[in-house]
Amino acid sequence: MAALRGTRVLPTAARCGRRLLSMGAAPHVQHGTPTGGFSFELSPQQKEFQATARRFALEEIIPVAAQYDRTGEYPMPLIKRAWELGLINTHIPESCGGLGLGCFEACLITEELAYGCTGVQTAMEANSLGQMPLIIAGNEQQQRKYLGRMVEEPIMCAYCVTEPGAGSDVAGIKTKAERKGDEYIVNGQKMWITNGGKASWYFLLARTDPDLSAPASKAFTGFVVDADSPGIHVGRKELNMGQRCSDTRGIVFEDVRIPKENVLLAEGAGFKIAMGAFDKTRPPVAAGAVGLARRALDEATRYALERKTFGKPIVEHQAVSFLLAEMAMKVELARLAYQRAAWEADAGRRNTFFASIAKAFAADVANQAAADAVQIFGGSGFNSEYPVEKLMRDAKIYQIYEGTAQIQRLIIAREHLSKFQAHV
Ligand SMILES: Cc1cc2nc3c(=O)[nH]c(=O)nc-3n(C[C@H](O)[C@H](O)[C@H](O)COP(=O)(O)OP(=O)(O)OC[C@H]3O[C@@H](n4cnc5c(N)ncnc54)[C@H](O)[C@@H]3O)c2cc1C
Repeated sequence: MAALRGTRVLPTAARCGRRLLSMGAAPHVQHGTPTGGFSFELSPQQKEFQATARRFALEEIIPVAAQYDRTGEYPMPLIKRAWELGLINTHIPESCGGLGLGCFEACLITEELAYGCTGVQTAMEANSLGQMPLIIAGNEQQQRKYLGRMVEEPIMCAYCVTEPGAGSDVAGIKTKAERKGDEYIVNGQKMWITNGGKASWYFLLARTDPDLSAPASKAFTGFVVDADSPGIHVGRKELNMGQRCSDTRGIVFEDVRIPKENVLLAEGAGFKIAMGAFDKTRPPVAAGAVGLARRALDEATRYALERKTFGKPIVEHQAVSFLLAEMAMKVELARLAYQRAAWEADAGRRNTFFASIAKAFAADVANQAAADAVQIFGGSGFNSEYPVEKLMRDAKIYQIYEGTAQIQRLIIAREHLSKFQAHV
């Protein structure tokens, strides 16, 4: 920890990023289409971000991860530290003082953070999800006000879409926003909101067209809402199976007044904005799942080298070494999937197909790898003194949030069919 503290403390994320970026060529991203031919080589800056995140995970996250899991305490000290190191909010545009990094860099960093603890990583990643609608649809004033604040201080935001009656079926949400003069009055209830109790502001999706037959693409509006607005009531922290230090809550909006300046893009544009954000955030979610799977593989390998049965280390039993080989294959393939999805996003191409493939595949890989690691640990795998039972609990959510495993398959099937039909 001391080594990391000595070498990488920088006053703000933006300065950190500029320092890293000044070390070589332009990053692989947002600023333009990646150039060059097919290559698996990371740029010097990408290696630097990856190495910084890896050291942070090993030296600062892993030593405290079990404690955060036990207490469920929000990992604010780790978030502040990641903010100092430039490891969160990486895609806030340079016009707002941010790093303006691409999806690819965000994914590299996320895999490393998740290797340390996916509860901590989800708490950090929820900022990206909350910010993304503003990045893709906010005007300059909205971006400077809300994203600029996040460069100045380590504050959180949240993405408020899911409701008690509608998760996968986003068009079924009932929270309504009624225009009254220069304001909208919002009433409704949101559920399962990550960072719900910690956010300074929310991205909120609400129905603005009361006509239930109106198409989703016109019926909903996206707003940015200050979390301290009168009428916002935040519920208790949910006690979840895994990722327990992440803060998940329900939020009630009761006659909350939102100025019309806080509408993103235009009234009626919210559904596309809310769904469009996922194309940019599913690759990092997939990268988080890969980080967890890689951790499971490493823990299982270490244990298999040490634990002896029938006179030899269990790694020498082919049934165990083949299980490790399967895990290694899946980790590598899931990484390629998120890298392709992120690369497509950074190239400015529609990446819905690749983002869903990466998210669905990596989520399954994380669950299989964690379960296999528990298997390799035998009885010790079932015990909370060892790290792998936490990995198994933490892995499940990857098949649920940001679109369930089934919803990803529906998207992939739809995208595949339209690609197929376009070529036949
Ligand atoms: C820890 C956690 C954090 C979260 N964070 C956020 C957040 O920050 N912001 C936010 O807005 N939401 C958040 N969510 C909500 C999350 O995105 C939803 O839980 C998820 O989209 C599923 O919705 P649901 O829970 O309503 O399940 P449902 O939509 O009710 O689905 C139930 C089951 O039916 C399946 N199903 C549904 N429709 C279909 C279909 N058409 N075909 C086949 N199967 C189907 C689903 O796959 C699932 O298995 C979070 C949830 C959790 C648990």
